[in-house]
Amino acid sequence: LITARGLRKSFGPTEALRGVDLDVRRGEVLAVMGPSGSGKSTLLHCLAGVLVPDSGTVEVAGRSVSGLGEAARSRLRLTEFGFVFQFGQLLPELTAADNVGLPLLLNGTPRARARTAAGAALARLGLQDAGEKHPTELSGGQAQRVAIARALITRPKVLFADEPTGSLDSLAAENVLTAMLDLVREDGTTVVLITHDPRTAAYADREVIVRDGRIGAVVA
Ligand code: ATP
Ligand code: MG
Repeated sequence: LITARGLRKSFGPTEALRGVDLDVRRGEVLAVMGPSGSGKSTLLHCLAGVLVPDSGTVEVAGRSVSGLGEAARSRLRLTEFGFVFQFGQLLPELTAADNVGLPLLLNGTPRARARTAAGAALARLGLQDAGEKHPTELSGGQAQRVAIARALITRPKVLFADEPTGSLDSLAAENVLTAMLDLVREDGTTVVLITHDPRTAAYADREVIVRDGRIGAVVA
């Protein structure tokens, strides 16, 4: 589904990516591991059209991502991709349900339909009673579930997750991770999952290790 070839990306003198080739298969959960600073997040950002590589190409479903301008990439991110990060992604002034429905509102979905869909998405993650709470009233694990519900509400082709359970203790992390993976497997969503935790990576179909801006190893 995703084909990356020859990706290079520098930030000033720092070569974050030094020639990455990567294929992500449709429907697979791919874990990306590797030391801090090795280029994992930069790689994810290039695959998702958040960053444009200095050279090399990214295609998703046969369409160039790396060749698009900012407006087209931003549209693609909103309509085809979902994102979950480690920290601080919910808007504090919105309720959980409004946070989850936001991508639909941005897509032009009517408010009532977005609210119904948000309720259903929260229920899929076991949060049917949390819709009217604000992010500060949620536990860390609940907040990450809300973020996952929001990322999946548009039924994205690809879910990009950068340490989605990195801020949680191991029990909460495992619960949130398995809830997320149940949903993506059910929907057939392709997942690029950055993690430092080998136990998290063990849930993936395949694992790649990034070292010094290159793919160091692929573990099936
Ligand atoms: P971590 O596990 O700590 O999240 P990572 O593997 O995700 O690390 P990246 O965030 O991709 O690593 O960073 C790779 C290198 O690029 C690092 O040396 C980092 O300092 C540098 N870098 C990343 N983003 C930027 C930026 N926006 N400006 C300057 N340097 C950056
Ligand atoms: Mg990172």
